[in-house]
Amino acid sequence: MSKSKIDADLRARDEAHVWHPFTQTYKGVVPLQVKKAEGTLLYGMDDQTYIDANSSWWVNIHGHAHPHIGRALNEQFLKVDHVIFAGATHEKAIELAERICDVLPDNFQKVFFSDNGSTATEVALKMVFQYFHNQGIEKKRVLAMSGAYHGDTFGAMSVGERDKFNAPFEPFFFDVDYLDFPTEENENEILRNATDLFQTGEFCCMIIEPLVQGASGMRMYSAKFLDQLTLRAKENGVLVIFDEVMTGFGRTGKLFAMDYCNEKPDIVTLSKGLTAGILPMGLTITSNDIFNAFLSPDTTKAFLHGHSFTANPLACAVACASLDLFERPETWNNIESIVKWNVDFANELNSCSMISNIRQKGTILAFEVNTEKETTYFSDLRDQLYNYCLDNGIFIRPLGNVVFINPPYCITEGEFKHVKKVLLNFLNELN
Ligand SMILES: *Cc1c(COP(=O)(O)O)cnc(C)c1O
Repeated sequence: MSKSKIDADLRARDEAHVWHPFTQTYKGVVPLQVKKAEGTLLYGMDDQTYIDANSSWWVNIHGHAHPHIGRALNEQFLKVDHVIFAGATHEKAIELAERICDVLPDNFQKVFFSDNGSTATEVALKMVFQYFHNQGIEKKRVLAMSGAYHGDTFGAMSVGERDKFNAPFEPFFFDVDYLDFPTEENENEILRNATDLFQTGEFCCMIIEPLVQGASGMRMYSAKFLDQLTLRAKENGVLVIFDEVMTGFGRTGKLFAMDYCNEKPDIVTLSKGLTAGILPMGLTITSNDIFNAFLSPDTTKAFLHGHSFTANPLACAVACASLDLFERPETWNNIESIVKWNVDFANELNSCSMISNIRQKGTILAFEVNTEKETTYFSDLRDQLYNYCLDNGIFIRPLGNVVFINPPYCITEGEFKHVKKVLLNFLNELN
């Protein structure tokens, strides 16, 4: 029995005027109407509940309608709702910048605000390009990793995987070199290739998703490899950008993925969990060294970039409130519990015959369902599992035949067990 997903009138109005992201409307995809969201749950028609097992596109880390975040948002609205951020400043932006620098390694001292993960990437790339330009240094090549996802704007697409998603735009991208994705067998070869490239002296930066590549299917690699790669970049004067848009704020079991690494990047981008998934905001954080290359009596050497909503005070207040929650032991206890449940779940999955590549990092658990076809985002299995989960009170969004969970940290053991049971049932029924 399929439950009703949306009120008929609303469905017609949605269809008439709304263009949904990543959606082939031709296929008549019916979106789930969410009437209320609280804690781990989304409430649909007739008060049916759905566990938000992918944290509303990986952003909602503390659960929906968290009272502490709600209070911070309301209080900030009554103080300063929004204000221009060029020639003006406000206390919450300053507080957030200070607190973010506090929780990052010491070399991170300057915070640039933008609106989402993609703009945080654009800012990072523009910062690097102008850093060298301002000093009259010619370094134009960029290194990225195959399978990368850094956002959907042009710079971000240019440094991402060149695949079916962005084929129409490829003629407009700048050239980028790609490293293979590391596995235990090819790590040394990749490091040799990277070193050869860096030694040309032509590379300005390397951009990378640390430890977990998100959109390409929650693909994981070791901190040891990343340390060696970062070290080789730095030895050759290549700036290193870590895109922690997805990995940041506890996802990997530590506050940042770079907390697993000895070698730290020069620039880091944050978004998604930054505002606990409540309001859009991106941050690009770097060192005083890089910032200082923009200081000059010449205005054109400044970073002439900004957005209307740069450092929106409501988003800053919510991000600070989220950091408050990370100061509470219960948040870390919850993360620890999810890590433990994930490890147990991964062990149980080991005995399932129709899946492969079970992997887990912190609060993320992923595996691939073997299908006749190759592993791909366009797998039919995706729709089958998506609907099966909805029918069983779970909202997930598999990446093709890659199934993963990355729930809000407030998920209860009972809710987690339900997610596990439904996924295992699905796999058994496939047999
Ligand atoms: C989601 C994501 C982005 C893009 O962020 P948006 O806010 O969706 O623009 C960039 N990098 C990574 C690693 C991401 O997961």
